[in-house]
Amino acid sequence: MASIFTKIANGEIPSYKVASDDKHFAFLDINPVVPGHTLVIPRRESDYIFDLDDEEYTQLQLFAKRVAKAMQKALPCKRIGTAVIGMEVPHVHIHLIPLNTEGDMDFRREKLTLDNKDMADIAAAIAKEFE
Ligand code: AMP
Repeated sequence: MASIFTKIANGEIPSYKVASDDKHFAFLDINPVVPGHTLVIPRRESDYIFDLDDEEYTQLQLFAKRVAKAMQKALPCKRIGTAVIGMEVPHVHIHLIPLNTEGDMDFRREKLTLDNKDMADIAAAIAKEFE
């Protein structure tokens, strides 16, 4: 059965899309730690990032770098933090987090629920800067 993130990448489950290419997809985390929290996935399903072969790992990181550059331009933040956790969804994903303080990377704090318009506006702002 396809993972929830495969269904998102295929458009079978809605998401706030930020960017995509033939091998990758980026979308807003539905419960962000801070506004603009983005997930980057390979379209090919795999559970654990360090099981990816070198080519797939490198391509994923390069795609995430492009998304991070777009986020940096679109959002008010000092830099973009990156993390890989994967305790919840067994489909490789890189968290990209707009940071203003170190505490913005704290995944234990209460997650946010933004309204649809705010999420759509943030996704559109990042998408506009994606090159
Ligand atoms: P983890 O697997 O521990 O890295 O966490 C999975 C992340 O995916 C969490 O931050 C969730 O908020 C996020 N997430 C789960 N389902 C969705 C979804 N349908 N759309 C966007 N983000 C999701």
